[in-house]
Amino acid sequence: MSRLRSVLTRLTMPTISSTRELVRYVVLVTVFGLAAALALDVTQQLLFFTTWAAALRSWALTVIAVAGIATPVAVMFARAQWELQSAKKALEDLSRTDPLTGLPNRRALMEAGEAPTLQTMVLVIADVDRFKAVNDTYGHRAGDAVLQAVGRIMTAHLAGYGLVGRLGGEEFALISTNASLAQIVPALGDLLRAIETTPFVTPGGVVQITLSAGVAIRDPSEPFERLYAEADEALYLAKRSGRNRIKLSARARAELPPDTTVDRSNLA
Ligand code: GH3
Ligand code: MG
Ligand code: MG
Repeated sequence: MSRLRSVLTRLTMPTISSTRELVRYVVLVTVFGLAAALALDVTQQLLFFTTWAAALRSWALTVIAVAGIATPVAVMFARAQWELQSAKKALEDLSRTDPLTGLPNRRALMEAGEAPTLQTMVLVIADVDRFKAVNDTYGHRAGDAVLQAVGRIMTAHLAGYGLVGRLGGEEFALISTNASLAQIVPALGDLLRAIETTPFVTPGGVVQITLSAGVAIRDPSEPFERLYAEADEALYLAKRSGRNRIKLSARARAELPPDTTVDRSNLA
């Protein structure tokens, strides 16, 4: 019974994302249609049997009629289904992508942060220092070019540790469940140094910037909002204590191995 239900589901709500799946679906529909039509026809021919010639002629006509109708209809339906599903997928990808940098956007980051996990999670929030002045001095297009470059540099340094995305404005984030603070904090130190020493060539001129970052850590049982608030608070402290530096939440500081070597970080 459950097998029949599964066949019916595959017939009425197929998932089609390749030519192979399309062919498989068309074959399934044709075979199912033929089996059903022939079963009816054979029953009818046995109940009202006249001659074998009449019965065979009727079965042959049934096979031709069903295959002739079911196959092209199945092809059309499968094609439409394929297009619909890939359009839906493209739209979903688009709704999780930041158009300026091409990075995962706030929505994608929030979903990753709120997804259930069994591992500890590290969140880094990084914010460009005095970015308003970049726009004011070099123009908004220059600001955009800087943000795109920051996205690329941050991805190059941190994407190996988790999901790198743009939270909005000049704020970026890393969400990691597969790397330790002892790996992430030094990499973050390298990122800050790279940003500080990169001349950003923009339509408005060459721009120098720095980055500040807040880092927090949480156990799987704790809510993401708390992790976010702690990372945000650490970022605020990094800004308050002079910018171009990393600050860790109290817990992250306690869990960072004392022998971790960090370039350009003020972890006090
Ligand atoms: P702080 O060091 O405290 O972070 O100072 P800040 O100037 O970076 O921060 P503030 O929040 O005052 O200004 C952020 C600026 O970022 C203001 C806004 O115009 C600019 N901004 C936000 N999104 C974009 C964007 O997509 N493109 C450009 N060019 N600018 C943006
Ligand atoms: Mg800023
Ligand atoms: Mg900001």
